[in-house]
Amino acid sequence: LSDRLNDKDLAVDAALVAGRWLKTAPSGKTFTVTNPSTGETLADLPDLGSKEADQAIDAAYEAQKDWAARTSKERSAVLRRLHDLMVDNADDLAIILTAEMGKPLAEARGEILYGASYVEWFAEEAKRVYGDIIPGHQGDKRVVVLKQPVGVVASITPWNFPNAMMARKMAPALAVGCAFVAKPAELTPLSALAMGVLAERAGLPRGLFSVLTTTDSATMGKTFCSHDKVRKLSFTGSTRVGKILMKQAAEQVMRTSMELGGNAPFIVFNDADLDAAVEGAMISKYRNNGQTCVCANRIYVQSGVYDAFAAKLVDAVKALHVGDGFEDGIDAGPLINQAAVEKVQDHIADATQKGATLAVGGSPHQRGGTYFEPTVLTGVTSDMAIAREETFGPVAPLFAFDGVDDVIAKANDTEFGLAAYFYAKDLAQVWRVAEALEYGMVGVNTGIISNEMAPFGGVKQSGQGREGSKYGIDDYLEIKYVCLGSI
Ligand code: ADP
Repeated sequence: LSDRLNDKDLAVDAALVAGRWLKTAPSGKTFTVTNPSTGETLADLPDLGSKEADQAIDAAYEAQKDWAARTSKERSAVLRRLHDLMVDNADDLAIILTAEMGKPLAEARGEILYGASYVEWFAEEAKRVYGDIIPGHQGDKRVVVLKQPVGVVASITPWNFPNAMMARKMAPALAVGCAFVAKPAELTPLSALAMGVLAERAGLPRGLFSVLTTTDSATMGKTFCSHDKVRKLSFTGSTRVGKILMKQAAEQVMRTSMELGGNAPFIVFNDADLDAAVEGAMISKYRNNGQTCVCANRIYVQSGVYDAFAAKLVDAVKALHVGDGFEDGIDAGPLINQAAVEKVQDHIADATQKGATLAVGGSPHQRGGTYFEPTVLTGVTSDMAIAREETFGPVAPLFAFDGVDDVIAKANDTEFGLAAYFYAKDLAQVWRVAEALEYGMVGVNTGIISNEMAPFGGVKQSGQGREGSKYGIDDYLEIKYVCLGSI
């Protein structure tokens, strides 16, 4: 991997624990990170356990006191340098990301800049953590509200955005004066480790930020939740694991932020601009090869435009290029692993058995491995598994609908509530539908909504808390009320 990089030091084969780079675990155990496109070995990393997690947490606890005592302007300056280093090294960071995760290099570069935008944003917001002065309830009293960092934050993040999912948590935590102990996904830890290198260069104090590499995520999660110096757990991943972690965190009444699964509806009304809707559906569905929690999972098309929309979408899908993320002109890389391929195949088989039609794709790609053909299914109905479960792959299922109330009921008929999208022109209808969708985020006439200035997050079983925007910083702050008496 390092042969491909300008700055070879960004390819790391050690974990960052309590301010030290650890090449071997005390247990001697290691694990291998591979390229999902080629199977090539990228690095052997120490497989850490709870003892190393404890060390990282203890060091974070100590480092946090001094960090919180610095002025917000000083913390902001360090984060600003981290942002600049991410941008300066975006090409190398993108290469590391594509190598370990498989997404096209241009998308990987986009992810790095997207992750960096959160670091920039929270470097700015660091200076705007305002308290309050409330009118006193008695003549000799003054009521003051302070906002203080929660303390040591532990994070667990997934493989689909190896840089940005961590950056989105790390930036607000560090900005307000927290320490940060990260456990990246075992499939994609190299992007997080590269951030460890850049954080050191940016001047982050030793021990304030650790990156724990491990295959035993369950033990790591338990260690985070049972350590009394960890005050907050920030998780992005499946709803299943989120629930386990929330139960474990309850033992200490630990604060949590949860970015969990989605089952995004994408609705096309009769009055929509069809070309724009196809463009939005393409980016919402096939970005990251369908492996994002905000990917359109169910596409509802009103009867009047169903056939026209389906035809245009199929044409656009036929033009997608599948291949190795390092090849030019690639739109979709491999799926992350064989289990992902099987889930996609199960959803397609279930749908076709129950009467759906394959309009394009439907099979593993001729390139082999975990490559899969971009797929469109028509005639999909609510009784099919794909209507209820997140596919996390390149399959667009098209459902037909007639009435507005009917499609809103169908869109909301899920335990998830992360992102929803719709295309329409009638202003009153736009408002009504936007208000009626039970989702944390709604894209109207756009298929891509996430940015650092807006609050990202879900309702229902898609999670709690928000990342990005002025709201995102509250996830890492405690409110303290001070009552001044005898004035
Ligand atoms: P995905 O389907 O995206 O892999 P997961 O929820 O399985 O979603 O994984 C997200 C993150 O959670 C990864 O870092 C993974 O290692 C971690 N993880 C998986 N199982 C557990 C667990 N029982 N406790 C703590 N973390 C876990």
